[in-house]
Order: sequence, then structure tokens, then C-alpha cells
Amino acid sequence: MNAISACAICRNPSTARVHEGCEERLDAGLASLPRLYRELEQHLAPSRRGDSGRAGSRTAPLPVNERVLDLRARGGIEGVVVTWERDARETLGWEPAPFRGDVQQTVDGAVAFLRTQVPWFCDAHEAVYDLAQDVRRLRAECDSIITGERPPRRIPVGCPCGAVLKVTIDTPGIRCDDCGTQYGHAEALRLPAVDRSAA
Ligand SMILES: [Zn+2]
Ligand SMILES: [Zn+2]
Repeated sequence: MNAISACAICRNPSTARVHEGCEERLDAGLASLPRLYRELEQHLAPSRRGDSGRAGSRTAPLPVNERVLDLRARGGIEGVVVTWERDARETLGWEPAPFRGDVQQTVDGAVAFLRTQVPWFCDAHEAVYDLAQDVRRLRAECDSIITGERPPRRIPVGCPCGAVLKVTIDTPGIRCDDCGTQYGHAEALRLPAVDRSAA
């Protein structure tokens, strides 16, 4: 094995399997989920666009924000963290997770468990990249609802194999599902943009 290979999360060169900073970001992302879960409750009603008058929307407002409902339901944030906890426990040969109560209590418990296992995920779990992506995606979606900002634009770029990948400016890295090539942040942003209208 080479002394320097690619970080399993961001794909940039690294002597460790996962950069210390990438491990810290994964842990911080997990740690933010219970807070985001609670904050989302304030956003169940669709937000008004600013205070300075009418948004000019012609559509009737929805009674609830369905994205928020989905994220706060069983199978939303809860589904993601519970699935990763089950995966970890099965891989480690441990007992299944105990019943923890309602959705919020389940999110809290699963996140607490996953945070204790972040070093193991980074040292040994083959799908730590997918865990990091799931956490990043959930966090970005919750943040965009809470702050009212649109999520970063996804830019279609071309992999040399012919597949089209969607990257954001802040992407930590991306893997082409078609050919398996892994791109770090800088490499992903250097791929040629694809003209959507040509597709
Ligand atoms: Zn990294
Ligand atoms: Zn490819």
C-alpha cells in the first residue's frame, strides 16, 4: 500500500484513511442533526418571503411545508441515521439498537451512537463516503429551509466516460457511479460543464 492515497471522504491525497478535518466535519455534521430536527419545527408553516411586502406569488400558500414534514417524519432524518446505526451494529456484530421512543428521541439516540463510532467509520467502514454525503446532504437541506436560502446550484459536468455528474461549488468530492472514478473537490470542479439543452 502506498503511504499516500486518497482520503475516503474528500478524495484528496492523504496519508490517513480519512483526513482529521474530514473526520471532524463528519462528527460536526452528525452533531448538528438533532438541533436541526428541532429547529425545523418552526418552519412547518411555509415562510413568508421577507418582511418588506408582497412576494407577488400567484399560488395559494401550502398549509404546511411538505419538505419539513418529510424530514421530521419517520424515515426522514430519522430514517437516515437509523439506517446507518443498523449498518454499523450489523457490521460490528452488535445487538440491534434499543427502542428509544418518538422520532426526536430516536434521532437523538441514533446520532449519539453514530458519533461514538465516527473514528471507526473513518478507520474501517468501506462506505464512510456515503455516510458523509448523507449527513452533508441532510444538513444542507435543513439549513436551506431554516435560513430560507436556496441550496447551492448543482452544475452538470461531464465525466470522460460519458456520464453526467452534478456538482456543487462546495462539493467535497464526487464519485462517478458509471465508471467508478473518484474526483476530489478541485478535480470535480475542473470537469467540463455540460450544456443541459444539448442533452
Ligand atoms: Zn479528506
Ligand atoms: Zn465516469
